Amino acid sequence: MLNKELLYNTIKDYKIELNDEAYSRLDKYAELLVETNKQFNLTAITDPDAITIKHFADCLAVFNAVDFKKNAKIIDVGTGAGFPGLVMLLSRPDLDITFLDGTGKKLVFIEKVMESVGLKGKILHRRAEDAGRDPQYREKFDFSTARAVANLSALCEYCLPFVKTGGCFISMKSSSANEEIADAENALKLLGGELSENKMFDLVENTPRRIISIKKISQTPSKYPRASSKISKNPLK
Ligand code: SAM
Repeated sequence: MLNKELLYNTIKDYKIELNDEAYSRLDKYAELLVETNKQFNLTAITDPDAITIKHFADCLAVFNAVDFKKNAKIIDVGTGAGFPGLVMLLSRPDLDITFLDGTGKKLVFIEKVMESVGLKGKILHRRAEDAGRDPQYREKFDFSTARAVANLSALCEYCLPFVKTGGCFISMKSSSANEEIADAENALKLLGGELSENKMFDLVENTPRRIISIKKISQTPSKYPRASSKISKNPLK
């Protein structure tokens, strides 16, 4: 299911190497993704080469942009079918990853993949804005990550409350996110964040992508995150 050679050649360009066990775990993931997708919708991408590039290589690029120390504590917000969090765990089983999503059946899928490859991560079936107010999760993570969940201003309100001061929120976006970054400038400040890196890379030829790192420089004020209706109707400006 996984095109191993294509993955090897693609991630080599951004200086990432995986061992054989990681390749076979990703292969199992691709197989279960396609199989489970026949029962309920997990992804619109089902062709093996497209899964290899648009899901796996895209998510793996985060290892080129960010240095995750051994056992780093990470929450993947709006993980869906496990992107980027599950790709990260299957490649770096030392990472301590929590998978958060508001949709339970996607999390059941993630559990199934982890069980089939013998790895463990934590499942959190909550809305981000609820879990971010819960002292059990608030400012408890070294990193939060998110891909394809919301615009950057709303994402910062979902994701920054989880991060400890000194940690980082990593947002994976398309190359056209420049305007979103400008719009989110004040939201970042209000939430205790600061733009630290904005890295563009070519996933494959003519497919530019962006990894935005937002450093947590001070605690998020207790009034954030607001209720979900406020975040969507009235984004922080
Ligand atoms: N990150 C995955 C990817 O890149 O393929 C999934 C992207 S999917 C378009 C967005 C996911 O975010 C959905 O699974 C949805 O349930 C989840 N989501 C959106 N807003 C959320 C929120 N406020 N709290 C929890 N999950 C949320």
